[in-house]
Amino acid sequence: MNTKEKEKNVIESVMYSYSTTASPLEEENRILKETVSKLKEEVERFKTPPLMICEIRNVEGNHAIIRIPNGNQFYVGISADCGQLKPGDMVLADQKNLNAIRKLSITRKFNIQKFVIVEKPDTSWADIGGLDAQAREIQEVVELPLKKPELFKKVGITPPKGILLYGEPGTGKTLLAKAVAASTNSTFIEVVGSELVQKFIGEGAKIVKEIFEFARKKAPAIIFIDELDSLAAKRVEVGTSGEREVNRTFMQLLAELDGFEPLDKVKVIGATNRKDILDPAIVRPGRLDRLIHIPIPNNEGRKEILKIHTKNMSLDKDINLKDMIERMENFSGAEIKAACTEAGYFAIRDNRTNITKSDFLGGIEKVKKEELLEGNDYMKMFG
Ligand code: ATP
Repeated sequence: MNTKEKEKNVIESVMYSYSTTASPLEEENRILKETVSKLKEEVERFKTPPLMICEIRNVEGNHAIIRIPNGNQFYVGISADCGQLKPGDMVLADQKNLNAIRKLSITRKFNIQKFVIVEKPDTSWADIGGLDAQAREIQEVVELPLKKPELFKKVGITPPKGILLYGEPGTGKTLLAKAVAASTNSTFIEVVGSELVQKFIGEGAKIVKEIFEFARKKAPAIIFIDELDSLAAKRVEVGTSGEREVNRTFMQLLAELDGFEPLDKVKVIGATNRKDILDPAIVRPGRLDRLIHIPIPNNEGRKEILKIHTKNMSLDKDINLKDMIERMENFSGAEIKAACTEAGYFAIRDNRTNITKSDFLGGIEKVKKEELLEGNDYMKMFG
């Protein structure tokens, strides 16, 4: 091999070694570049502010009314990426300008049973003592239209959409509502006014709407709204967002009452201990316009209630029920029941199954003491 050929060989082998070492380096370079770009993307993603999940309430062209999680509503633009939107759809909205950016595939589906108690009660009229006149009125106003709607059509009158039961706590308002639900085989939907506005902040009005929808589906149905005053109290001004929320929920309730047909198989029963603070709008004709007072039972009423709650107890012969009834003056039905239960506990503590006179007296005294303590607490709180 001459020198020229040798030189050529050396050059070729160097070039070959370059070509074989260059390719892993290039490969490494490519991988590093890809990693850098991925990391850059990730950094960008972390920098983007979070988007808010909102509900579409109404769509008008390329604008929509959205409801943000705290319940406030805004009129905003819709990005073309959202596609077709309809009320109830969920979207992602920019936190600054609230424009709807993207539609989410989830829809807002309420499980109404998470918010209210739904049951088919088995309370019978016989479980209620001392409220015959009130029970009769409820039967006339609620039971009859549910059982015989055609009768009202023939006579040409429209029965009330709902009634308002008012009176002291523990006097049997819930019991009456359950009894009429049972006697009409209706679904009993119980909702507590204060929970609607405090526990499910921002959702009150929507839940009210859903409750009525649900009731129509499950008809015949009784919607029982306990503590109606916390929802429907007179308001001097609607200033704070909490008050606005209560007001929105109340307005929705009025809208629902005004909206559904009178002979629809849904009846509303409101209950309150504070009729004095109710907004008159709720008891206007066509709404809860039949007001029924549920009083603290008198002697005769207490006797009946006591009979109901002692019917499964074995009372000693020497217990003078008349005397017990007098000792329970001003007791509500719930307190009479509590006195019976306490008497039962005295017997259990003494390893007996029969109730003695002293058990009963002890039960009554215990309830009286508790009432006194509650009264003192109230005085401490409110002077
Ligand atoms: P609140 O205003 O506190 O909601 P309420 O008027 O709805 O009270 P209920 O829940 O119906 O009172 O009564 C509580 C319990 O007291 C009942 O489950 C029942 O055991 C007893 N009770 C109350 N009133 C009567 C009554 N008239 N006859 C028989 N039991 C009664």
